[in-house]
Amino acid sequence: MALIELRDVIKKYHRSTTALRGVDLDVNQGEFVYIVGPSGAGKSSFIKLIYHEEKATSGRIKVGEFDVTNLKPKHLPYLRRSIGVVFQDYKLLPRKTVFENVAYAMEVIGERRKTIKKRVPEVLELVGLKHKMRAFPDQLSGGEQQRVAIARAIVNNPKLLIADEPTGNLDPDNSWEIMKLLERINMQGTTILMATHNSQIVNTLRHRVVAIENGRVVRDQEKGDYGYDD
Ligand code: ADP
Repeated sequence: MALIELRDVIKKYHRSTTALRGVDLDVNQGEFVYIVGPSGAGKSSFIKLIYHEEKATSGRIKVGEFDVTNLKPKHLPYLRRSIGVVFQDYKLLPRKTVFENVAYAMEVIGERRKTIKKRVPEVLELVGLKHKMRAFPDQLSGGEQQRVAIARAIVNNPKLLIADEPTGNLDPDNSWEIMKLLERINMQGTTILMATHNSQIVNTLRHRVVAIENGRVVRDQEKGDYGYDD
């Protein structure tokens, strides 16, 4: 069964801008999907619709058991709990420690103190940063900050991890470290949707490639290549 289903999804921001022009797509549980395409093609809009940061103008979107296009407000926290999101610029809270940044994602969904104290070090261990638990974000390198962001995104065991240009601010070495981590998370059963401009990564770690151009899916390829000049 598909984890994500989009049917004829249209997204207009206002009368003059149409970001998505009728997108149909199914993603199965456990897949790793790269979303590629030129700037302004609609990749971020596509991603924002899935975690309900933006609303579709028309069409239907389902994620797991959630009908995202007709989501009742009381169901939004449950949808958000089933999706982890990672951004190009990490978006960590600067005045909170590494531990507190990750713990916060559990606090907002009402997890118990005891559960948080046990789970946060586990997930920091997974990303190789247990020893930096008490550091603040500005004491970490970019690659380390992104690993904290990934820990925060997966701490509640989401079915889906969305990454919008996760290596966009990183040098090649750190980018590969982040990719190793995402691959490991995917191997453990988490579905991954990653928007990227990194042709080397897409052409080396082969996965399904969905290309969006001018608001439409123009290519959908198993173990595809990046397909654009850098
Ligand atoms: P990409 O992520 O592929 O660069 P986006 O989804 O960000 O593409 O943008 C698709 C189109 O929608 C672009 O024309 C962009 O200017 C427009 N757009 C994106 N976000 C907004 C917004 N919040 N308000 C108005 N227009 C937007």
